[in-house]
Amino acid sequence: MKKIVKVISVMLLLLIVSQSAVFSYAEDSQKSELKAQIIKTVPFAPNINAKAMKFKFKVNKKGYVKVLVLDDYGETIKTLVKDKKIQNADDKEFSLKWDFSQDGEENKKAAAGTYKVKIVFENNDKTEKATAKSFFNIVDGSKSVWLDAGHGGIDAGAIRTDGKYERDDNLKIAKQVRKILKKQGIEVYMSRTDKDKNYASIADLKERIKKANKAKVDLFVSFHRNAAAVSSANGFNIYTHNPKYKSNVRKKQAKNKASQSMKLSKNIFKEMSKVTEMKMGDVIKGSNNREDFFVNKLSNMPSCMLETGYVTNVSDNKQFDKNYKSYAEAISKGIMKTLDITYIEN
Ligand SMILES: [Zn+2]
Repeated sequence: MKKIVKVISVMLLLLIVSQSAVFSYAEDSQKSELKAQIIKTVPFAPNINAKAMKFKFKVNKKGYVKVLVLDDYGETIKTLVKDKKIQNADDKEFSLKWDFSQDGEENKKAAAGTYKVKIVFENNDKTEKATAKSFFNIVDGSKSVWLDAGHGGIDAGAIRTDGKYERDDNLKIAKQVRKILKKQGIEVYMSRTDKDKNYASIADLKERIKKANKAKVDLFVSFHRNAAAVSSANGFNIYTHNPKYKSNVRKKQAKNKASQSMKLSKNIFKEMSKVTEMKMGDVIKGSNNREDFFVNKLSNMPSCMLETGYVTNVSDNKQFDKNYKSYAEAISKGIMKTLDITYIEN
């Protein structure tokens, strides 16, 4: 008896789920294939305040279906469906809702964390079996991040070797990070989502930071690209808060800001070093003149400023254009690690 195992990865545009797979087994050369497939998993809100999670799945034959929710360790914390009989199924879709609030004790178990929905589907005589799995994050509702795409409006930032503007690169990568973090269940705020045509001065920059402070986000990440008078200068650097200098932060927050800013910077630096061919520079406290940049000085929460290569270096520009999506993924991983939230691989 020969078993054919097929693994089909299904890429879906989901709010939270980022992994979904179909396993099917067939007996010898028989054409009958049993399939269970998770189509969509969406919590009502991507946070701990979510009241319920909804998901859709599909099976393609008559049989019995079982739907389980597993925790990080693979232990079943909830049986959503127990051997439900499917009378007639021809690629039939089902919708299910997991109402946390109805669960009492189990509700507490559905605290922030990474979970897995598992479907086990068997045909009537139980000779065939198919399973499908899908991961999702329930994130503590207070977790939020501010992404500050540097410059904007008439302030183009530095000019690239090909004449393009730093301003647009900063926005491009910040938006990609937003896309990833939202999909992972984190609340994201942006300084700007377009050119921000009214942006012109330091006063406007201070206004952006003020807004982030008002939003009380957990982390603040500013996106820039470096520039130098010599075209040979290259590499990725991070500027982080220097506690030696007075920041805007009240005493009570100051210690946390200093240690967490360094943690955030190191986490991003480490993830970037795994994916980039750019020279890995350093995590730098303060600025080149030693005092903090405004984004690190005036923000109340842990923060850092990324310099994703030099716009004045041809090779760095080439790397950035080609790989900004994988950089965005690395930066997102560093942010999530700092927030203590599991990154779910696509
Ligand atoms: Zn800049």
